[in-house]
Amino acid sequence: MANFNGVDFNLEYRSRDDAWYTCGVVLEDGKQLRVKFQDFIESHFDEVFSIADLSTHHEIEQLIRKFRPVSVPLEDNECSKVIEGMKVCAIYRRGEEVLYFDAIVDDVHYIEHTPEKCLCTYLLFWQNGPGKGNITATTLEDICLIMDGAIHPKVSDFVNFAKQKLKISSNEKSDKSQESGNVGHSSRGRFSAGRERSFPELSDQDRDLGGVNQTDHHHYVMLENLEIDLCPLLMMDFIQEHTSIAAQAFVFPSLLAETYARGAIMVDSITKLRRIYDFINNPNHFITSFSGRPWVIAEDKLRSGTLNINLQSFQPKHENYSTNRELKVVRSGTEEYRKSKQLKDLYLELRNHIKGLVQRFSMEEQNRDPYGFCKL
Ligand SMILES: [Zn+2]
Repeated sequence: MANFNGVDFNLEYRSRDDAWYTCGVVLEDGKQLRVKFQDFIESHFDEVFSIADLSTHHEIEQLIRKFRPVSVPLEDNECSKVIEGMKVCAIYRRGEEVLYFDAIVDDVHYIEHTPEKCLCTYLLFWQNGPGKGNITATTLEDICLIMDGAIHPKVSDFVNFAKQKLKISSNEKSDKSQESGNVGHSSRGRFSAGRERSFPELSDQDRDLGGVNQTDHHHYVMLENLEIDLCPLLMMDFIQEHTSIAAQAFVFPSLLAETYARGAIMVDSITKLRRIYDFINNPNHFITSFSGRPWVIAEDKLRSGTLNINLQSFQPKHENYSTNRELKVVRSGTEEYRKSKQLKDLYLELRNHIKGLVQRFSMEEQNRDPYGFCKL
């Protein structure tokens, strides 16, 4: 039995109810990761992950996403830090129950006030929990800023052990894995029970087709300036995390001379697509890849049609579903935002140039006698 003395409660953990709890972790023999809750210290409340339960890279990445540094409350004079479009961790109150869930700031009503007492109101669009999909009004005292940070060393060690195990077993089963044909990841996995309490399958709903039905009418938006080796599963998880919408994502092969790729995000309703479009196109932030390359919406038009979803099989095989290659939201006012804006402007300059050439090419094609060669 591990010694739980000296556990640092320096992490936030998303539990089975999708609420975030302050926790500490203990690595047991390199084979189990024990999550201890600061407010429920007795061991029967612990959640335990075993390496044996992790059978795909996707499950490992989902596990990593369940941990982050503890979110930070704001002082009354810091209310301008909370801006529209921002993801925050906030208190959801239901009767006596007070739980922390993620929410997107839908709107902010700033009011002039003294530094001692914030009077502003924030509308939050809840991403999880009882309020999921709803918008409620709240005040600054119930909002915390989500902190970026490296993976906790113990979580990182556990994950590395799990990856090593996976590598060994995938070598052993290489013939079988080729049959999955799902851009390098198996589509579903199931966790077995922990030592004292079972924990559910990591939230993986609608994974197979991102909630998009093969035969439905599809709605999609084209993207460009993507990394050429961007993993569509990473895009899908990112979109789901920030909009609560299960979408299907594609990254298309690039020409050899191109340093960027085009892609598409597809859903089964125009309302969902508009929300995703608004998220990507929000002027308060950019969505960038690990290298800082910002996503660009290729055209303002939201397209519709019935598509063959098996198109995915034409995609390059992407293996880089890894936290080292994160997508992120870069907020305005930061140095990262300034750099991303420069990169986006540079890309738009290139695009406008190409657009001009395409128009000229098109005009010259139209002016040419299509049957001229017959006179030779
Ligand atoms: Zn205020």
